[in-house]
Amino acid sequence: MKRLIPLINPLKAPGRALKKWLTKPSSNAPLTIIPRDHHSISRSQISESALKVLYRLHKAGYQALLVGGGVRDTLLGMQPKDFDVATNATPEQVAKLFRNSRLIGRRFKLVHVVFGREVIEVATFRAPPSEEHSAKQSATGDQGMILRDNVYGSKDEDAMRRDFTVNALYYDIADFSVHAYAGGWDDLKHQRLRLIGDPEVRYREDPVRMLRAIRFAAKLGFSLEQETERPIAMMAPLLQQIPPARLFEEILKLFLHGQAEQTFEQLLHYGLFAELFPQTAEQLQHDDFCQALVRNTFANTDVRIRSGKSVTPYFFLAALLWPTVNQRMQQLQDKGMPPQQALHKAAERVIAQQARTIAIPKRFSIPMKEIWELQLRLPKTRSRRCEELLSHPRFRAAYDFVLLREQSGEELDGLGQWWTDFQAQHGPVTPSRSDNDKPRKRRPNRRRSPRRN
Ligand code: ATP
Ligand code: MG
Repeated sequence: MKRLIPLINPLKAPGRALKKWLTKPSSNAPLTIIPRDHHSISRSQISESALKVLYRLHKAGYQALLVGGGVRDTLLGMQPKDFDVATNATPEQVAKLFRNSRLIGRRFKLVHVVFGREVIEVATFRAPPSEEHSAKQSATGDQGMILRDNVYGSKDEDAMRRDFTVNALYYDIADFSVHAYAGGWDDLKHQRLRLIGDPEVRYREDPVRMLRAIRFAAKLGFSLEQETERPIAMMAPLLQQIPPARLFEEILKLFLHGQAEQTFEQLLHYGLFAELFPQTAEQLQHDDFCQALVRNTFANTDVRIRSGKSVTPYFFLAALLWPTVNQRMQQLQDKGMPPQQALHKAAERVIAQQARTIAIPKRFSIPMKEIWELQLRLPKTRSRRCEELLSHPRFRAAYDFVLLREQSGEELDGLGQWWTDFQAQHGPVTPSRSDNDKPRKRRPNRRRSPRRN
């Protein structure tokens, strides 16, 4: 069933004549202006901090608009993840206005204005990079990838630098109108994801846009417009150019928005998954258990997120790589290596191989290895140290992992049930995975991977 989108104020939906009046051609792309009474955004839906930033910029005489997901999601009746602001003030001018701000990024300069744990990202309008600008301001790699993007421009130019039409929606604090470019308003109404400009050029500029296409389609329940979809399968290998640290940030966003299962199927469909997790993709081809494990992992992740529980990336990463680790471990054991040592070696190799595409920080790879190691210890149910294991910081995750393996078809001789009973007898024990591994208190820095390159 299609969702009803409260994008338009139903009391005052624009009539035909009005609509005509609202749309006017701008330098590059048609701009549609939707006045305050004709869309559904109200200031009460915008965070106080974002409003403060918008008002202060406006009072100082600059243009100040909310842009991107903050506008898109609010129009769709969803809670935005964060609020981004676009302005014609330079980063230095923005920084001067806010004591609680810092300049970040070199390739894509931005200002973060910090309010406790909330960070409002303020970006200066970008213009298309051109030859007349120095290499210091803008740079493009051999294959068309944008390496630096610091040429400032107008709002119209800025809109054309954004990825999808529904991400080029602006909410102007000067008169509370919404500005939509390149058919973004229609695309939002028709739940369509469309890249601005020539899709091949745009994917080449920044191959991460392919992942963003899959993510937004799954998260918003939108379909990919034909031209936006067509080049993806062919261009998927371009992801190899992306620094592994940036891809790590992207996979967190891909799998932690509550639609991981669908996202996974789409990544697989377009050949993107193999670029991200080559070892797992290989394993998926001939291993039914791996297929079930990966699908169950994402399905469980979605259930947890939708019911408001937290999830830890190391759990799903441990699951994605487990079949390969397990296979390597068996091979080493067949050669006579003791199990612990074989696991250790297999784990190191698989993680090192994975790091070529996605750099998993130590704070995640260490708990992944602990979960795997506990898979060797949990079957020793006759050991006197069982009770000790209950207080292992990774016990709960390792126990969940056993259940997941069983759920995915592995025959473990009732191991999950044994530990369920054991905990019932010896409980209350460790808090659940969600409580045990509450995300570390976030520092007020909204870590962003540099955009557009
Ligand atoms: P969400 O915050 O829910 O992930 P978002 O659309 O706000 O969605 P952000 O990554 O926060 O996405 O980026 C904010 C805006 O910046 C986007 O809406 C888009 O206009 C622009 N943008 C971000 N990344 C890119 C990119 N790689 N190429 C072009 N434009 C981008
Ligand atoms: Mg955002």
